[in-house]
Amino acid sequence: MNFEKFIRDIPDFPKPGIIFKDITPLLADPEAFKGVIDEMAEKVKDIEFDAILVPEARGFLFGSALAYKLGKKLVPVRKPGKLPYEVVEVSYALEYGEAKIQMHKDALEKGEKVLIVDDVLATGGTIKAIQTLVEKLEAEVSGIICLIELEFLNPREKLDNVRVESILKY
Ligand code: IMP
Repeated sequence: MNFEKFIRDIPDFPKPGIIFKDITPLLADPEAFKGVIDEMAEKVKDIEFDAILVPEARGFLFGSALAYKLGKKLVPVRKPGKLPYEVVEVSYALEYGEAKIQMHKDALEKGEKVLIVDDVLATGGTIKAIQTLVEKLEAEVSGIICLIELEFLNPREKLDNVRVESILKY
């Protein structure tokens, strides 16, 4: 299935000069959304993992559907002030701005293997930061899958030594 027609380019959002990939048309098409989740499942079938980690907010959409399909544990990674229990935290630079993310300190067992699922892989900063969080809990990232990879931002340079999969590349 060609998913590209379900991705809308929004110029100058959220800042001048950024062309934002809007995935809401894909979410609005049940067949396309199902197609993406099925293709994600296919692409990760030879990766070993116990948990799916999802960054707020659009990672939740794809990661939770994939966790349901594959019967995996789901762990949310959130912005500060959202998680109710004790957290581990990391700061990082975004394609547009700065951010902090947190995860519950008991979200992963020592040695657990995780797959990170998100909508867009841009600079790779978010996923690199999640990798740092995972390592703080002595767990391990065994793979990353995103719907869209912005290859022109070279995210894989930041993410060596880990398998990266994506469905659409720009
Ligand atoms: P990175 O940290 O630069 O790789 O940015 C990735 C994060 O920013 C992801 O969580 C995305 O949801 C978000 N993001 C960056 N660019 C876009 C975009 O064009 N469309 C939608 N989300 C984006």
